Amino acid sequence: MRQINHFVGGQTTAESARQGDVLNPATGKVQAQVSLASKAEVDACIDNAREAQRAWGAMNPQRRIRVINKWLQLIHENQDELARLITLEHGKTYDDALGDIARGTDVLEFSLGAPHQLKGEYSTNVGSGIDTYSLRQPLGVVAGITPFNFPAMIPLWKAGPALAAGNAFVLKPSERDPSVPVRLAELFLEAGGPAGVFNVINGDKEAVDAILDSPVIKAVGFVGSTAIAQYIFERCAATGKRAQCFGGAKNHVLVMPDANIDAAADAIVGAAYGSAGERCMALSVAVPVGEETAERLKAAIVERIGNLTVGHGLEKGVDYGPLVAQSALDRVNRLIEEGVQAGADIVVDGRGIDLSDKEFEGESLGGGFFIGPTLFDKVTPEMSIYLEEIFGPVLVMVRANSFEEAIRLPNEHQYGNGVAIFTENGGAAREFAAHVEVGMVGINVPIPVPVAYHTFGGWKASAFGDLNQHGPDSFRFYTKTKTVTSRWPDGDESTADFTMPVMK
Ligand code: NAD
Repeated sequence: MRQINHFVGGQTTAESARQGDVLNPATGKVQAQVSLASKAEVDACIDNAREAQRAWGAMNPQRRIRVINKWLQLIHENQDELARLITLEHGKTYDDALGDIARGTDVLEFSLGAPHQLKGEYSTNVGSGIDTYSLRQPLGVVAGITPFNFPAMIPLWKAGPALAAGNAFVLKPSERDPSVPVRLAELFLEAGGPAGVFNVINGDKEAVDAILDSPVIKAVGFVGSTAIAQYIFERCAATGKRAQCFGGAKNHVLVMPDANIDAAADAIVGAAYGSAGERCMALSVAVPVGEETAERLKAAIVERIGNLTVGHGLEKGVDYGPLVAQSALDRVNRLIEEGVQAGADIVVDGRGIDLSDKEFEGESLGGGFFIGPTLFDKVTPEMSIYLEEIFGPVLVMVRANSFEEAIRLPNEHQYGNGVAIFTENGGAAREFAAHVEVGMVGINVPIPVPVAYHTFGGWKASAFGDLNQHGPDSFRFYTKTKTVTSRWPDGDESTADFTMPVMK
């Protein structure tokens, strides 16, 4: 069986005492074993990273980004292998996996601007012979703790700016799909990155807690579920670490009566069911405004659902693949049943989809974690299918009678990651963007993930911490500011002064 270990100090390590299974979600079979790091293994990795960081942090930033640039090229050259690995461990389609890589390399491209991002500020003559300047310095050793659903993109969102800013980076990816993160670290070394600057520690809570408790780690960038995001944020605060922790979501889409219903339905179906709904920016709540809009939208979505193909992510023509694990499938099935019991209309029920007569490359898909697209109508805000993040191919419709009633839904929801509106009315769109209590807003755009040079982050229970991911915030997060006040008087003016220095 294939064995996946850690990547520390530029080398693959020996196996850890504890091991986890890596499944192929399309077959349900174990395809590899992954080492789960102990505290001692994490501490050794961090010590090694601390040594490696000194030279990397002192290096001219333009030299550092030459390494990042080469790394970017190697990722592009190896994207076929990386995308196949993502599909086999995560389950998403090959084309979707290419998108996972591309949105990650976008942030590496942005990180090539590090010399500009790291430029400080300078004020001359703030006093007699006195100048003040500020500079951004790397923090030292920083960490990223990342989720299963974007095994290339999110590690690169963290690693790109952190490394370009001169830090050493310890990545603890999801134990469900660890192969691509390890390959990314190998490619960084191949690109000329010094050994020990980019390390991958595989593992579970034990590895995470060792990172959180290490006094050497200065910042933690986390992405995952809200409960763990909050735990990590609080534990980092207790040990004086900088933290940015991004959590779960429940993304609404308002459909106004004047919207182009066909365009809206196309966008919503892709954003709700793509990647089996396992995206933090998936649309999971449709809010049609007015009964007529609701009926037209429902009919258009049902028609499109009928054309969706669920199957192995490497098969051509498949729209989405399996969920990541049996536990994810059980959870989605449970929530669907709760919706039915609560009295919502189940318009399309994707439960119990049977792919046992299908196989891919000789392997049966019968044991895979598949679920068909599911649509609920007449959902009300107290139902668990509305309140909780389902993280599966389930779209719920909550009907609203007016724009005011519709916007109140995302505004009062605990999550505030993404939101969208479909309308032909610029005034309504503008009003929506100004008043919706959500971090990322789409206007006739279903998945408004900002481009790499803007920042990504939700509001409310979708994010803990002050600074967003990628864009200029990422350099602020992974650097600290130093402000120097220097005095070079013309003559010998030295006197002892016992009062607070002020501008005279
Ligand atoms: P998760 O919270 O289960 O795991 C995320 C990371 O935390 C993994 O590395 C995991 O090993 C670790 N972890 C899990 N349990 C832990 C524990 N008890 N103590 C310490 N560490 C622990 O999340 P997931 O299932 O991998 O990912 C899906 C979630 O991520 C969804 O809620 C989704 O919305 C969210 N997500 C959010 C964003 C965003 O930017 N807001 C982006 C992608 C995914």
